[in-house]
Amino acid sequence: MKRIFIVAGIVCLNAMLLSAQSKKSQLLVSELDKKVDALIAKMTLEEKVGQMTEVTSDVVSTTTNGVHQIDDAKIKEAILKYHVGSILNVSGHAYDRKHWFDVISTIQKEAAQDRLKIPVIYGIDAIHGVTYTTGSTLFPHEIAMAATFNKELAYKAGEITAYETRASYIPWNYSPVLDLGKSPLWPRIYETFGEDPFLIKTMGASIIKGYQGNDVGDKYHVAACMKHYLGYGDPIDGKDRTPAWIPDRYMREYFLPPFAEAVKAGAKTLMINSGEINGVPIHASKYMLTDVLRGELHFDGIAVTDWRDIEYLHDRHHIAATQKDAVMIAVNAGVDMSMVPYEYSFYNYLVELVHEGKVSMARINEAVHRILKVKYQLGLFERPVGNPDDYPKFGSDEFKQISVQAATEAITLLKNNNNILPLKKDVKVFVTGPTANTMRSLDGGWSYTWQGDQSDSFAANKNTILEAIQQKIGKDNVSYEPGASFDSLQNVNDAVKAAKKADVIVLCLGELSYTENVGNIDDLNLPAAQIELATELTKTGKPVILVLAEGRPRVVTQAENQSAATVMTYLSGNEGGDALASILFGDANPSGKLPFTYPKYPNALVNYYRKNLENGNSDDSHGYNPLYEFGFGLSYTTFSYNNLHLSKPDLKDGETLLVTVDVKNTGQREGKESVLLYTSQLYASIAPDTKRLRAYDKINLKPGEKKTVTFKIKASDLAFVNDISKTVTEPGEFKIQIGDQTQSFNFISNTVPSRTGKL
Ligand code: BGC
Repeated sequence: MKRIFIVAGIVCLNAMLLSAQSKKSQLLVSELDKKVDALIAKMTLEEKVGQMTEVTSDVVSTTTNGVHQIDDAKIKEAILKYHVGSILNVSGHAYDRKHWFDVISTIQKEAAQDRLKIPVIYGIDAIHGVTYTTGSTLFPHEIAMAATFNKELAYKAGEITAYETRASYIPWNYSPVLDLGKSPLWPRIYETFGEDPFLIKTMGASIIKGYQGNDVGDKYHVAACMKHYLGYGDPIDGKDRTPAWIPDRYMREYFLPPFAEAVKAGAKTLMINSGEINGVPIHASKYMLTDVLRGELHFDGIAVTDWRDIEYLHDRHHIAATQKDAVMIAVNAGVDMSMVPYEYSFYNYLVELVHEGKVSMARINEAVHRILKVKYQLGLFERPVGNPDDYPKFGSDEFKQISVQAATEAITLLKNNNNILPLKKDVKVFVTGPTANTMRSLDGGWSYTWQGDQSDSFAANKNTILEAIQQKIGKDNVSYEPGASFDSLQNVNDAVKAAKKADVIVLCLGELSYTENVGNIDDLNLPAAQIELATELTKTGKPVILVLAEGRPRVVTQAENQSAATVMTYLSGNEGGDALASILFGDANPSGKLPFTYPKYPNALVNYYRKNLENGNSDDSHGYNPLYEFGFGLSYTTFSYNNLHLSKPDLKDGETLLVTVDVKNTGQREGKESVLLYTSQLYASIAPDTKRLRAYDKINLKPGEKKTVTFKIKASDLAFVNDISKTVTEPGEFKIQIGDQTQSFNFISNTVPSRTGKL
């Protein structure tokens, strides 16, 4: 009882402090708005349009004999002639911190020469660590972070990435990806937090808070960029930037919530989806960019286009007859900044369009206001370039340990026949397969280069899977033959011969690094050569530990059926090899769970929250038949779930249901368990989803230890989008499922909107 009062007291105090803080920040915001307006009042149209223009660093650089530098004449043209407000990214490869200092200092010095001395905002894809700075801490990609089901880790990874991005003098990170990783073919699955809207929304909000901290303007935080708004993750043919058909109801149910949550978490900027939905490119959609984003979500930060996307309205989507029309459509729809990225026609057209009255000055002022406000909030006016001495922890062991933890908690044990894992350290291991000895299959794309194709040299000091195993059990215990490249067999007989001499085979299959359209595939099956290698090795009779290092769930059913154990590493980053070796040899206990459905067949691609097609006979043959379900993952210990308890039989409007469950470690090893709470509504006006993840928590349990996990469920947590696109929680019976436990309750309401949306 006393505890309750203390907790209630703390909650009240917190609420008072928060409200005082938010009043203060509202005040600050309005003072800042005035400051921004005062600056805008001094600006010419050309200076304003310049702020809305973002070019790539190539436009202002030269690279001679491999030496990159900002070109004096080009940067003068960008800043003094076009008043460019933003520059993005490096096109070549990673630089060291010293080079970044020179690059950013040169740019900002030039900006200080312009009439109004407005600093440039430099943006970069630091999407799993500041991947374009050598010596930085590279984390697992988002898909692997999602598999940890550990929001605290996502927050920490965000915080460290922000620190190291500022240590590279860059204040703007094009991350996180909040797209729904729905189509397993899509080459950007690895950049997402998986297929579940709740997982994406919670991990996304955590990483954003890590990036931005309490004060985005301090020297350790950066502006986040939620992307790619909206509906990017489900192209019909699975290829990047190809058309999607997504009904409004569906968009709001599955795609929108992570963005709504990110706005609440304070994300400062947003990048727009390059695709078209229902025939409408999002860059041309006033409905999406203004009505929904501003009117409903109340987002007041910068909306930047993706790469060249205004030009594509003309030459890819064919909805603008000229490039100038494309600029008019996009800016009027609500675009604030154009990632042009190579030249200045956007600037010229937009100036003309304002003179012609086709784009209003009010729209321009609105966009420029948002851009300048973020620049002020980031502290760029006072501190356009950071101080090199302020970042002693850059690339430190302390940061590395968080990446090790993330990789370890991500790696997902999918099968472990007869507890073959963990292996003893004195076994003779034969390591093989195309992903065994390359950092490219651990780091994936967006690592040191766009395609991640130079990770073997940039991350040469990090361990591949092979190297990590050699280090763990000694080179003498490990033999290696590649056996196959990614798509053809290579001296398979040598591999078979070596396998016969070993006790166990670690077969590493999967993908090479790729990014965006380069990763498009026509076939979800892993290339036949890799499956053939598995079959040849299985014939030796030696147990096969199948390791999957891949950015999306490629179909591997035949090889997987033959394995004694299966381990999914996703793209677990620079520490992924070591983390895997620790798991294989029992120094760490796996605790990852799948953030997506692992399909068994290439034509049976159903997400776990499918419609319930059972007809009372438990016949699910119409629907979900995956190799492994979303949320599946084993441990070296076992957990039992008991006493699922609900605080009341009925949940009423405004009430909170306390859900408790006892989780016990019933095995011999300490282990972590992600406890997932699903709900299902039995009957609703829209055919209800089979089940939906509504809450999760990750706990650590010693052998024999039991913990009671508590979740709070409110009516709004059970809501869905109805047939008139309204979010409602309809009264009725619900089922709660945690582990193998289920309980039912009723939601009773006097205020639920009727089918017409009225009370
Ligand atoms: C990608 C974005 C990225 C941008 C800048 C685009 O091609 O779609 O995710 O942020 O490039 O590098």
